[in-house]
Amino acid sequence: MRCDLADGDAVAALASSGLARAAAGGDPTRGEAVALLACDDVDATAALLAAAGARRDAAWGRTLTYSPKVFLPVTNLCRDRCTYCTFRKDPDDPDAWTMQPDEIAAWSARGRALGCTEALLCLGDRPEAAFRGYRDLLAGLGHRTTAEYVHRAGRIALAEGLLPHTNAGVLTRDEMARLRDVNVSMGLMLESTSPRLRGRGEVHQWAPDKDPAVRLRMLHEAGELRIPFTTGLLLGIGETLAERVDTLLAIRDAHRAHGHVQEVIVQSFRAKPTIPRAAAPEPGALELARTLAVARLVLDADVGVQAPPNLSPDGHALLVRAGLNDWGGMSPLTPDYVNPEAPWPHVAALARTCAAAGYALAPRLPIYPAFVDRPGWLAPGLREAVARHAPHAAVMEEAAS
Ligand code: SF4
Repeated sequence: MRCDLADGDAVAALASSGLARAAAGGDPTRGEAVALLACDDVDATAALLAAAGARRDAAWGRTLTYSPKVFLPVTNLCRDRCTYCTFRKDPDDPDAWTMQPDEIAAWSARGRALGCTEALLCLGDRPEAAFRGYRDLLAGLGHRTTAEYVHRAGRIALAEGLLPHTNAGVLTRDEMARLRDVNVSMGLMLESTSPRLRGRGEVHQWAPDKDPAVRLRMLHEAGELRIPFTTGLLLGIGETLAERVDTLLAIRDAHRAHGHVQEVIVQSFRAKPTIPRAAAPEPGALELARTLAVARLVLDADVGVQAPPNLSPDGHALLVRAGLNDWGGMSPLTPDYVNPEAPWPHVAALARTCAAAGYALAPRLPIYPAFVDRPGWLAPGLREAVARHAPHAAVMEEAAS
């Protein structure tokens, strides 16, 4: 919506009042946040990005961070069928892969040798509920559930000197309670709180684990269990602007209830030739930047806001302007198995882009410093492993101070 058009006047006024409210330290209302997303003329976008950038600077300083990681796709089998996904495989697919324990150890060791600190254990949703052959494979490894096997994978990664961060899709409260012993943080993309997207012909029609109520429950349970948590939005999957704002507000509510959301990923849908949504439009660079900026203004200042740099290779400077404080995980070793066509940028090149905008780039751990010393958050058995990586933690504390 061009806010300089006559029929955009009311929306432009709402957007302006949202910026004024944020500048005064308040929360933009739902309507103001929607208006900020809707106003895409040059002046309105510049004002939004400036406000978000100033809020980032005040809370996070002039250092942007990333997490050097190894991506371990413990299994790419998944019981869901999201229509934008190329990660999931059926058991008879030639690219189906459940990592063996020795593979998890070998990739972890290689990553550690290259300076990685994070083991990202990222996998499909509860494949044991759908595939008999996979249940047999798990049994052969001595496990009944994927969550049990992920616990073992976490122990392996820890033994190789990495700090695990698990995103295994929807987990029960008991599964999370066990996994927190081997994870310094965990994650689940909320994606969208719109139940509409589970309807006929929508992206989540065949994805029971994408029921927003189920994911919101896990988000809150993670907070109750005091697990430092990563979540986020997926843009361009059929949601409206108001539904985007509702998703942000749901994350803010969860964080205000439990104080556990360490970062929120703002990620765009990517069209790929082999997916049912191959012809669907991708959100543009400015739309992503505006959404990231609104996230920065809607979420509490202590919540990190990040966007994956490999999905916006030409948009890094714009994302810095929009208030990003973190780039998420980047790997010198493993691809982004969710978006394998999108290589990670070179750290040196990204650092130059950050420097040109007036920011340093520094590595961080998969647990943010605010959670390391907060009593009851980091599992006691992981404290020594985190302390071993103290230089990275110190860099991030400086960034946040
Ligand atoms: S996006 Fe996640 S839940 Fe959906 S099909 Fe892919 S792996 Fe499964």
